[in-house]
Amino acid sequence: MAKINIYDVEKIKNINEKRVWDLLVQFYETHSEYCTCRDCILDVVSITLNTIPPHYQVSDDPAPAIKKISDEDILKTIKEAADRVAKYPHHI
Ligand SMILES: [Zn+2]
Repeated sequence: MAKINIYDVEKIKNINEKRVWDLLVQFYETHSEYCTCRDCILDVVSITLNTIPPHYQVSDDPAPAIKKISDEDILKTIKEAADRVAKYPHHI
């Protein structure tokens, strides 16, 4: 049995982070009306990740992840975040 060490924290990943980045590409392909500068995209991702529940999993776990939130719900949250960022942008 392997002992735990403090660096094993990097083995725990919020798999919803990658899902948000993947769906973000899809979102901006169909919503060209939103600003795609670095500041706006990072704000949209931050708001989205703070809104949807995290889903932590051991990164080398071979079992496929069971999605606890649908792609459609993540896309809806991205849209809401993009609307909010468009209304109150941080970019200059
Ligand atoms: Zn912007």
